Amino acid sequence: MVSKLAQQGVQDPWVLQSIGRVDRHLFVASALANQAYENTSLPIGFGQTISKPNVVARMIELLRHGANGRLGRVLEIGTGCGYQAAVLSHMASEVYSIERVRGLHEQAKEHLRPFRLPNVHLIFGDGMKGYPKGAPYAGIISAAGGDQVPSTWLDQLAVGARLVAPTMTPAGHQALLVVEKTASGYERQVLEAVHFVPLKSGVE
Ligand code: SAH
Repeated sequence: MVSKLAQQGVQDPWVLQSIGRVDRHLFVASALANQAYENTSLPIGFGQTISKPNVVARMIELLRHGANGRLGRVLEIGTGCGYQAAVLSHMASEVYSIERVRGLHEQAKEHLRPFRLPNVHLIFGDGMKGYPKGAPYAGIISAAGGDQVPSTWLDQLAVGARLVAPTMTPAGHQALLVVEKTASGYERQVLEAVHFVPLKSGVE
């Protein structure tokens, strides 16, 4: 899977190495394990999906933006099965990952337990509020897309840090949005079209 990602243009060695360190099949139901290394999204229960590996790689590469070494504290919105949190744990000092569906939060804890990743902190709650306790973040990544980016996420970014999230464009389709916080404001870039599950408020 890692060599395929490299062929598809993923260049950041930290991203490739970190993906290579996490067995993706351990995060999906055993009936799907044989598809775990294909470039496909897979169901993880509760109507949610784990993103395609090339989308995970692309988003983390955008988040890192060629950083030299590990990132500092990173916030992930949408823990899902916990796969991306595990990948992020190898390239960030601390990973705070928040999930609004209790069943998924509990399942992610089970998935991550054998990996013994002391720098991953799983939180049950509404990620639209961000997670102020870990702020400011060196990066924020969302695995769910809303109509716009909640202002709390921008508030919780450190200067020089990036937010990567799927968001609705004015044209009415979902695309990847990168926002960089600078000393004087925010720089936004809208990139390629993507298909993520909806960002929802509240918990269930
Ligand atoms: N990164 C995950 C992808 C999960 S899919 C993985 O590796 O498996 C996106 C997840 O975002 C879903 O589990 C969904 O429940 C969650 N989500 C949607 N809105 C949310 C919110 N406001 N706060 C936290 N999680 C949210």
